[in-house]
Amino acid sequence: MTTPRSQQEPNSKPLNSGSFAAFTPSLDTVQQVDIRQQEFRDASRRKSERWMARTPTKRDIVARLERVSAEDAPRLKQCCSAFMSRTCGQHTILSYPTFRCKKMFCPDCAAERATRLGNQTKAKIAEVMKTTKGRLCFLTLTAKNAATLDGGLSKLKKNFAKFKRKKVFKNHIKGYFGAFEYTFNPKTNDFHIHLHLIIYRGKFWNQSDISDAWRDVTGDSFIVDIREIKDAHKGVKEVCKYVVKSADLMTMPDDKFLEVVKMKKGTRMFISGGCFYNVKLDDDDAADDDVFGQFAELQPGDACPFCGDELFDVIVNREQHIGLHELNAMPNVVKSNSS
Ligand SMILES: [Zn+2]
Ligand SMILES: [Zn+2]
Repeated sequence: MTTPRSQQEPNSKPLNSGSFAAFTPSLDTVQQVDIRQQEFRDASRRKSERWMARTPTKRDIVARLERVSAEDAPRLKQCCSAFMSRTCGQHTILSYPTFRCKKMFCPDCAAERATRLGNQTKAKIAEVMKTTKGRLCFLTLTAKNAATLDGGLSKLKKNFAKFKRKKVFKNHIKGYFGAFEYTFNPKTNDFHIHLHLIIYRGKFWNQSDISDAWRDVTGDSFIVDIREIKDAHKGVKEVCKYVVKSADLMTMPDDKFLEVVKMKKGTRMFISGGCFYNVKLDDDDAADDDVFGQFAELQPGDACPFCGDELFDVIVNREQHIGLHELNAMPNVVKSNSS
């Protein structure tokens, strides 16, 4: 016996189900769908548990920062600790943090940055593919290990600038997006820095020729990897994730950790050029404008698009906050009388 679906958690239904494939439910298929959803939930929970085990939480980073560099800790701690939510008490239609630290190593700000970057990149790819013929590839350029992050990054940036001016580069590549990734090696006490690029190529360019050209520029590094991107959406996600990686942050010794923490604000970790030119991430101050999604025009006092109740604004703390993508029942929210 199955419970009629209408009696199951009325608020947990995905409301913006436009992106799911259409299907017609019948009595036979409902149970199956529920099983599949359960399997999906289990799989994604296992995946996120594995990820959680390796990745430091914001709490971990704040704790270390308080120990190592007390003056930098409060901003990180305050970042995303409170949210302005527009809600009917049950549905949240708009929500954004009242303060963002915009630090490179902040997991909250990094996630926001990766989302924004992904959307911009995908839009640009779609636009370019309409007018220009080519193929999307994933190209990784590596550099020798560097003692300092700053030094290693600027060397790799200089080398890439030389590389893209080469005739052989211009002959093959019409445009590129790229994100720098750094990992830390505790055994050798140095940083390993890569440049992960999505390139739009015209003519085929094989790996050994790229390797030769890259060695010409760097003098000592020749390890490159090129592969075709079959799924642009996944490819973009893959590159964007390097902008957010903070896994090695906790294994670094204090001096290296401080180096990352003190890295100049506005250090560019993302580049673009050619037909993909002008996808930027530097205008971080514009970030918060992007959160006003499809319900941006609704004001307090208007009717909730889901239940018709009156909307109001409320400041909620981190624990009470529920992401927009979940558009879910929001417990423990008390209507605020202050304006
Ligand atoms: Zn932050
Ligand atoms: Zn509502």
